[in-house]
Amino acid sequence: MNVLIVNAGSSSLKYQLFDTASKSVLAKGGCERIGIEGGKVEHKVPGREPYEFASEMATHEDAIRNVIALLTDAERGCISSMKEIGAVGHRVVHGGPYFTSSVLADEDVLAKVEKCRDLAPLHIGPSLTGIHACMDVMKDVPQVLVFDTAFHATMPEEAYLYPIPYEYFEKYHIRRYGFHGSSHKYVSREMIKLLDKPAEETKIVTCHLGNGSSIAAVKGGKVIDTTMGFTPLDGLIMGTRSGAIDPAIVTFLMEKENLSPAEMNAVLNKKSGLLGVSEKYSDFRDCRMAMDNEKDPKATAAIRVLAYQVKKYIGAYAAAMGGLDAVVFTAGIGENNNIIRAMPLEGLEYLGIDFDHEANDAIRRPVSTTCISKPSSRVKVYLIPTNEELIIAEDTERVVSER
Ligand code: AMP
Repeated sequence: MNVLIVNAGSSSLKYQLFDTASKSVLAKGGCERIGIEGGKVEHKVPGREPYEFASEMATHEDAIRNVIALLTDAERGCISSMKEIGAVGHRVVHGGPYFTSSVLADEDVLAKVEKCRDLAPLHIGPSLTGIHACMDVMKDVPQVLVFDTAFHATMPEEAYLYPIPYEYFEKYHIRRYGFHGSSHKYVSREMIKLLDKPAEETKIVTCHLGNGSSIAAVKGGKVIDTTMGFTPLDGLIMGTRSGAIDPAIVTFLMEKENLSPAEMNAVLNKKSGLLGVSEKYSDFRDCRMAMDNEKDPKATAAIRVLAYQVKKYIGAYAAAMGGLDAVVFTAGIGENNNIIRAMPLEGLEYLGIDFDHEANDAIRRPVSTTCISKPSSRVKVYLIPTNEELIIAEDTERVVSER
């Protein structure tokens, strides 16, 4: 089945046409500056020159019409008509307490997604706009919602409850949800295939390290804990996000710096993380260059904080799972930076990790699944390139076939 994967932002819409039979991307691209002057559309078909053009798009409907026109274009496209799109799979960042797996969009489902708006205001509004736009433009094509939080729905109460008054959990659904679910699902599933034991007995730590980063403890194929929480701000230091900090810092800084909730939110989401500590670089590559070339102490500190936190969570999750069979690194930083795979694993021999520095340093792009632990290592360490699109496309196909 050809599944059109849609990821709508407030002024953007990214797409991929994915063929689930061959597990390959037929086309991908994005529309930018929707509702703003100077719109632009990018379209790539593997093996052909990328194509880009200017287009004013007042709404997300205009954007999705552009996408359909491109996909079915005689010269630029890869399908002959919209009938060749079996379903649309929408990436939705938050399923709140309502969704623990992917669902077919209908009125009731969309009303529940609407209720999640408060939990991720920057993301849910644009997602809903994208979903409605696709429903309007592709009336007969089933629309499936795939939630970033769904794979984490198996967490036990002790992992998802925050120790604040219980009434806030009941009133506002404040709990740990977890994000990057499709990525953790994909890499843990691939890792299980590589382990020589029944899936139910596997204990895996998956490290999704990108601009946004999270780690998950996956026991028997199910998440039992993860670092992101109520929002994607919790857990690890990220590009510009603080990750977990002492909550008292928030009120302290608001008072001292006279910051409004919105300003404090911006400090934590946009001015912290690698950028905050290094004072210059939100991109890990730049931080690394500053550390290697200039011995920049703040960039070095930012990298050391990340490496230390990854190590700490590997230990914590090994304890939570009662053992460890494998550690997986994935996403932009995890796939492309040897030091962020090596530094956290230093000194973890007592856990059964015998890291293979040579194999790790020999990795070249384009990356593919690679073992970076020595054959003697009891715990396997792997780099597995993530494939969230495959999970979204597969889930979409499954939900449609179960209708
Ligand atoms: P993501 O959010 O998964 O796209 O990851 C973005 C992060 O990955 C940024 O901090 C980049 O520094 C890092 N990254 C992406 N590509 C590379 C690369 N080729 N080499 C080094 N770092 C990379």
